[in-house]
Amino acid sequence: MDAELKNELSRQGIFTTTLEELYNWGRKSSVWPLTFGLACCAIEMIATTMARYDLARFGAEVFRPSPRQADLMIVAGTVTKKMAPQVVRLYNQMPEPKYVIAMGACAISGGPFKQGYNVLKGIDRYIPVDVHIPGCPPRPEALIDAFMTLQKKIAAQSLTGEERPRYLHADEPSEFPVPEYGAHDLEPPKNVKLWNIIYKTAAKEPSSAGEDGSGKD
Ligand code: SF4
Repeated sequence: MDAELKNELSRQGIFTTTLEELYNWGRKSSVWPLTFGLACCAIEMIATTMARYDLARFGAEVFRPSPRQADLMIVAGTVTKKMAPQVVRLYNQMPEPKYVIAMGACAISGGPFKQGYNVLKGIDRYIPVDVHIPGCPPRPEALIDAFMTLQKKIAAQSLTGEERPRYLHADEPSEFPVPEYGAHDLEPPKNVKLWNIIYKTAAKEPSSAGEDGSGKD
């Protein structure tokens, strides 16, 4: 329906909607995060749920203790290589549709430990991230902003056509390979297929990325 006509009707007290809008509204208003934290950023995540910031206002107060009941993974803190397989396994156990917020410099890139032998340089090496939050640590306001960004993304999603979200494509995976401990690093060091989907523009440019999309390090 034409947006102007819709606005005009709503000014007259007539509300119209579509099944898609209703579905997206229901989804974005009841995103339940998984209960887990990895390091100091988790303290900010916990603060976001307390009375002062009150994440409950956004319908996300129900942190679930089981991945089977959660649809949002907030990766809050340093992802060590020892912990990365467990994070991917938890993600795989969540039902679709599921979303990921990478919270803090550590979760998005390794942060202050980027050069450490034991820290993963970003969880998006193994699972798809919807919203990245920079900062060390990001304040609760930043997490709320990321959460609202995710809600806008859900509200704008189209349920049909080529632009529909990943989980509505039958040939797209909902689970990703869990890395294993190798002699010197995780094997594989990143999910190249996923990496190339996310950074497909960069992967096409040989100057900024190798054939395996390994330009980011
Ligand atoms: S980004 Fe900073 S605050 Fe967050 S887990 Fe890493 S070191 Fe801690």
